[in-house]
Amino acid sequence: MTIQWFPGHMTKARRQIQEKLKLIDVVIELLDARLPLSSRNPMIDEILQGKPRLIVLNKSDLADPSVTRQWIAFFKQEGYLAVEADAASGQGLKEIPLLAKELMKEKIEKQIAKGINPRAVRALIVGIPNVGKSTLINGLAGRKIAATGDRPGVTKGQQWIKVGSEMELLDTPGILWPKFEDQNVGYRLAVTGAIREEILNVEDIAFFAVKYLVRYYWESFAERFELAQAPRDSEDPDEIVAVMEAVGRKRGCLMSGGRVDLEKASGILLRELRAGKLGRYSLEAPY
Ligand code: GDP
Repeated sequence: MTIQWFPGHMTKARRQIQEKLKLIDVVIELLDARLPLSSRNPMIDEILQGKPRLIVLNKSDLADPSVTRQWIAFFKQEGYLAVEADAASGQGLKEIPLLAKELMKEKIEKQIAKGINPRAVRALIVGIPNVGKSTLINGLAGRKIAATGDRPGVTKGQQWIKVGSEMELLDTPGILWPKFEDQNVGYRLAVTGAIREEILNVEDIAFFAVKYLVRYYWESFAERFELAQAPRDSEDPDEIVAVMEAVGRKRGCLMSGGRVDLEKASGILLRELRAGKLGRYSLEAPY
């Protein structure tokens, strides 16, 4: 799915979420575990207007587990309930309805004290494109939910999906835009494939990825591409380009005269990285 975000679209997205907020008790804010801040909407606090919120760090199967643990601690310190999940395999999903209920604990206790039988907690999933919202909805529902808005002729009525007996989920998620102003945010998103390569140059994206991986994940990087020697200075652009060239040679990306086709090498490198072939990695850490 490609969305072009113009100011008009942002206003509309925001209005759509705020309409849905009236219907729900808690928000499930979905972030990419590999880049939780970069995959976060810059205006999220303002948009959610103080609704109780559960932060889910999705795609944790692809992220560096020790960094994900740091992020969970970070968000907890900020006062949020936070949990990791892998919506694609279903890992971590069982906990979500329990935590949503935990957010409503005081209200539920008050209702019980008044003799009211509390109803299921109503939740809305929000997040930027590609973070795994549909996958999570399907995973929680235990079946494939067709996005109502995607089918022509189908009225866009909101549907509630039962998740066990204690949670109900809106079938259409709230789609948010990422933070565009910061170039590094754009590169991190592009490395994961969340921003299409037509927007940023593929060699620049690969350069950004290699620079980070060489610094923090040299061992698995070197193993994958059979590289013997780490660059002495990972801040030196020439040394990073030399690593990219070495990757290109390993993958047979040569042009006439024996020069490395860096564009082709960059494409291969990013594909392997996204497919998890270079092991688990995170692109930003809280500390
Ligand atoms: P949406 O745009 O937020 O609704 O994102 P989607 O649910 O369409 O997911 C985007 C892509 O990420 C799809 O290819 C999913 O299969 C993949 N995906 C979603 N969740 C996970 C996850 O936890 N782990 C992995 N490895 N892939 C995931």
